[in-house]
Amino acid sequence: MTHIRYIFLISLLIRADGAKRSSELSRLLIISLDGFRHEYLNQYEFPILNQFRNEGVQATQGMKPTFTTMTFPNHISIATGMYQEDHGIVHNSFFDRLLNRTIGMGNRDDGQWSDPNVEPIWITATKQNIKSAVLFWPACHNKFHGIRPLIYSWSYTDDIPFREKIDNAIGYFRELPVQLVLLYHFEPDKQGHTYGPDSIEVHDTLVRLDGDIGYLLDRVQKDLGDDLNIIILSDHGMTNVTKVTRPFYEKYLNRSSVDSNILSGALFNVMPNSGNTEEVFNSLSKIPNVTVYKRDEMPERFHYSKPKHRLGELTALTDTEGHILSPATTNAAYPNKGNHGWDNAVKSMQAIFMARGPLFSKSIQIDSLNNVDIYHIACHILKINPNPYANAGSLANLTSLFARIENTSTQTTFTSSNTTTARLTTELFFTTKSRAHCLCFSRHFLIALMFFVLSFTL
Ligand SMILES: [Zn+2]
Repeated sequence: MTHIRYIFLISLLIRADGAKRSSELSRLLIISLDGFRHEYLNQYEFPILNQFRNEGVQATQGMKPTFTTMTFPNHISIATGMYQEDHGIVHNSFFDRLLNRTIGMGNRDDGQWSDPNVEPIWITATKQNIKSAVLFWPACHNKFHGIRPLIYSWSYTDDIPFREKIDNAIGYFRELPVQLVLLYHFEPDKQGHTYGPDSIEVHDTLVRLDGDIGYLLDRVQKDLGDDLNIIILSDHGMTNVTKVTRPFYEKYLNRSSVDSNILSGALFNVMPNSGNTEEVFNSLSKIPNVTVYKRDEMPERFHYSKPKHRLGELTALTDTEGHILSPATTNAAYPNKGNHGWDNAVKSMQAIFMARGPLFSKSIQIDSLNNVDIYHIACHILKINPNPYANAGSLANLTSLFARIENTSTQTTFTSSNTTTARLTTELFFTTKSRAHCLCFSRHFLIALMFFVLSFTL
C-alpha cells in the first residue's frame, strides 16, 4: 500500500503545482490530421474549420512539409524543427547500418535517438518544467536523453476515435493540468491511400473530422473557458497514383546489383553493391521521366543526403507527382489509389495550417510557412527556450501570427532539467499497461484516491 500512497502523493503534488500555475501560463494543443492536403480546404465545404481559420491564423497556400513528404519524417520535423537529414528520420521505415536494424514508427528505444542534438518539443518543454502529453504522435513513446513526456501513448493503434482522443486532451489540460498536448490522428490519410484523394470516402471522412473539431471547440469553451491555443495542421498532402514503375521486374536494374535495403515510393533510394555504383546509376537513368542523383548531387533544397548510415548512395526521383517507383519483382497490382512522398514544393503535397487562441492574432492570413517553424511557434507560445540545434525553421517571417509579441525570442530563463517527478509518474502508470491507449489521468487520480483511502482500512 505504500506504493499506492506514493502514486497518490505524486498526483497531489502535480495537481497542486499545476493548479497554481495554470492561470498564469499559456496552453497549447497541436492536432495533426494525417494526410489532410491543403487543397481539400478549397475543394470542399468545412463549416467549422473555415470559421476556425477565419477567426484565427491561416496559411492560404498551406504549410510546406520537409522532403520526403512522408508521415514519420514530417512528424519528427514538426516536433523538432529540423530537416530530415538532421533529425535522421528519412522515411517511414529505413535500415540503420550502424544499429544494424530497421527503424520505423513502432520501434522502442533501440538507439535511434542517440544524437543529442535532436529534441522534440515535448522534451524541450519537459526539460523546462512544462508538463506535456503526447498522444499517438510518432516517437512519443521513445526516450530522448533519457526523458519522456509526462503522458504518452505506449504504442500505436487506429482503434481510438478522434473524439476520445479529444476527451483525453481536454482532461489533461483541465485535471493535471498540462500546458502542451500533441495529438495525432490517422485520418484522412488512410482513406486517401485506399480510395484516392478525390473519393467520396475522403470527402465523408473530412466532413466527419470537421464535426469532430466542432466538438473539440465546444469542449474547449465549456471546460477550459476558451483559454487554449490550438494549432491544427497536417504532415503532407495526397495525390492520385497515376503510374507505377517496377525497376527490377521491368529489367531496368539487376536485383543483385544493390543491397536489400531500399527506400521506395515517390523516390527510389538504393545502396549499390561494391563497385556497382556507375552501373546502377546508368540503369536507373534509363527509366523514363526519372532523374537519378548521387548523394552529393541531391538538390540542396531537399536537405536529404547527410545520414550515410541510413541512406543509399543513389536516389531516383520521378519527374512528376503520382509516379511510383516500386521494388516489386513481380507484376503484382499496386495497392494504393492515392499516395504522397513527392517533391515538398508541389501543390498536392502541401499540408494544412491554422491556429486560434488567446496568443494568436485574429483573422490573419499568411501565404505559407514551413513545418519546421512549428517548433518555434510552440516554444514562443509556451515561453521556453528552443533547442539551439533546431535551426531549420524560425519565427523571422511569422511575427504577425501572434496577438502580443515582445520580441521573437523566448523570454524564460533556461533552468536545468528537473523531470524526476514527471518521469516517475510516467513510469509508474505505464509500465503496467498492456493495452495501447492514452491515459486519462483524472481517472487514475480517482482510482489512486480510492486506494489511498482503502490502504488505511486494510
Ligand atoms: Zn500516408
